Amino acid sequence: MKQKTDTPIEVTSCLLPPLEEYLSCVKDIFNSHWLTNGGRYVLRLERELKNYLDAPCLSLCANGTLALQLSLRLLGLNGKKVILTPFTYVATLTALLWEGCQPVFADIDSQTLCIDPEKVERTFAEHPDAAGVLPVQVYGGACDVVTLDAICSKAGAVTLYDAAHAFGSKLYGKSLLDYGAASTCSFHATKLFHTVEGGCIVTSNQADTEQLELLRAFGHKGDDYYSLGINAKMSELHAAMGLCLLPRVGEVIAARATLCAAYDEALDVGDNLYLRRPRLIEGLEWNYAYYPVIFASPDLRQKAQVALTARNIRPRRYFHPSLSKLPYVKTPACPVAEDMAERVLCLPLWADMPGELPAEIAAIILAAMTEA
Ligand SMILES: *Cc1c(COP(=O)(O)O)cnc(C)c1O
Repeated sequence: MKQKTDTPIEVTSCLLPPLEEYLSCVKDIFNSHWLTNGGRYVLRLERELKNYLDAPCLSLCANGTLALQLSLRLLGLNGKKVILTPFTYVATLTALLWEGCQPVFADIDSQTLCIDPEKVERTFAEHPDAAGVLPVQVYGGACDVVTLDAICSKAGAVTLYDAAHAFGSKLYGKSLLDYGAASTCSFHATKLFHTVEGGCIVTSNQADTEQLELLRAFGHKGDDYYSLGINAKMSELHAAMGLCLLPRVGEVIAARATLCAAYDEALDVGDNLYLRRPRLIEGLEWNYAYYPVIFASPDLRQKAQVALTARNIRPRRYFHPSLSKLPYVKTPACPVAEDMAERVLCLPLWADMPGELPAEIAAIILAAMTEA
């Protein structure tokens, strides 16, 4: 691509169903006069997601941040000390802080960019009162869940996974949303599967699901008031978007796989001195949610970013800064996360992006690597 494109190429473009399909749901919802509060569309989406993910204990909610906050309450972690990764979107941290938790960072593994179990173990040694661990299945890749769960149970703590990126990923044959005491997902418009705004919580038992139903709807059912709750319900219009998109997820993942392979080939990622890809753990069936690249130095990352921006291509620095660097948290340094945050860039990726784009973007990056 020699010229600058007129419309910027963003890191992603929201997935949409054919307008008529969505409008026919909207018409149906209008006719019913039932817009929220456990309506037919929310119930149907919940049922279809349980089937799709083979996760019988799934609860929908208004967004991925509230999914985290409700889960913290469900697991009794609010107000407690919780160990988390510094390499994630800021919502992982704000959910903790909003629930009055005391966050303690454990650094990441430089290959997977997920929380490093060894560092979690060391953090438990320094903070034996930590009641939980909140790892992130970053980019839809997976943490070392087996080691983490073992360390956690030894410490008498619970694991809550922020699996906001993990929709459609599978680990050891089951959904990556089906690990830990609970896993949360985000259905935000920019995510692989979405409901415009939305999210879900997957747990391992029906009692949790019932508790979550109360937590997300003011703590009452009809005229019976049981507990403290908040409003974290999903509306019918949001659920309708999810129902229109869910049947397309298979194709979406397949298309993303093809585009990622095109990037891999054009960037020669197996044998490139300037950059590498994060490592996926053994046993993972990845959802191709993002296309992150780790440059050999911050300077090379900067060169790539400048060259792409000059052509109106806008990769994103997911995830920069390392949350350990935020002005409103006080924490020891996390050298690996802080280093990775300076070197990582997510390249544009969405299911129906033009097939030639990965090669063009790769060419711009490769040319930039050797510029003075
Ligand atoms: C998107 C995201 C969230 C927040 O989800 P929302 O639905 O936008 O509230 C939380 N954690 C991570 C890692 C995310 O990427």
